[in-house]
Amino acid sequence: EPAVTVSGVFKTYATRDGVVEAVRDVSFEVPHGHVVSMVGPSGCGKSTVLKMIAGLETYDRGTITVRGSDPAPGRRDCGIMMQSAVLLPWRTVRDNVMLPVEILGLDKSESAQRTQDLLELVGLQGFEKKFPWELSGGMQQRVSLARLLVFEPQLLLMDEPFAALDEMTRERLDLELVQLHERFQRTLIYVTHNIAEAVLISDTVIVMTARPGEIVDIVPIDLPRP
Ligand code: ADP
Ligand code: ADP
Repeated sequence: EPAVTVSGVFKTYATRDGVVEAVRDVSFEVPHGHVVSMVGPSGCGKSTVLKMIAGLETYDRGTITVRGSDPAPGRRDCGIMMQSAVLLPWRTVRDNVMLPVEILGLDKSESAQRTQDLLELVGLQGFEKKFPWELSGGMQQRVSLARLLVFEPQLLLMDEPFAALDEMTRERLDLELVQLHERFQRTLIYVTHNIAEAVLISDTVIVMTARPGEIVDIVPIDLPRP
């Protein structure tokens, strides 16, 4: 069974100006351990699809299955990371990374060790006691990456996680993501409007078109990895 199955999903939003058809008849599967990117112009429904998989949006028709059950927010086996780091400003880097551990009630001493390891892995050793506002945008995204990995979700959902960063930082973080994937083999769905980025990091690229958001192509990528 695939990690994620999206089948015949339709989604509209009710707004003051009427109904917006965000996603029309979207179907795809993500096998366990694969990296799938969703690309397409702004407004084509990429974020909406990701939020529906995360259980953060409802859908009007169709079926979504996440590791054999219905989507739901706050699942232990599914983590989501957004475009800008939503870090708590009054907490240190270390305590921000530990947040899911507290929310999910995981073992604290084990998680403290893992937090330390992850902060090293994402290149933030020495920054444990800093506050978010003392860090650059790229470093804040590294903190969110560590926070995403700390509870070891099997399914990672990323919505343009590095889009707000300069190109060099983005490329470096993408390469680190590829290396992380080689090491941990978690399933990843990655939303971006950057086709080069999608091709660099994924096994499969799902191409969407705007208004209403529909899948126009699903392209297997077979490139040697950097
Ligand atoms: P993308 O991630 O590809 O930029 P989105 O999923 O954010 O696309 O949006 C798809 C469409 O749905 C757009 O037309 C957007 O304006 C609309 N939309 C997204 N979220 C909402 C919302 N909460 N309420 C109303 N319309 C929305
Ligand atoms: P993203 O960059 O992640 O695609 P946006 O910046 O377009 O998202 O939107 C930010 C937030 O506003 C999201 O939570 C989205 O659901 C919501 N949103 C997007 N478009 C609309 C809309 N037309 N009406 C109301 N909310 C919207």
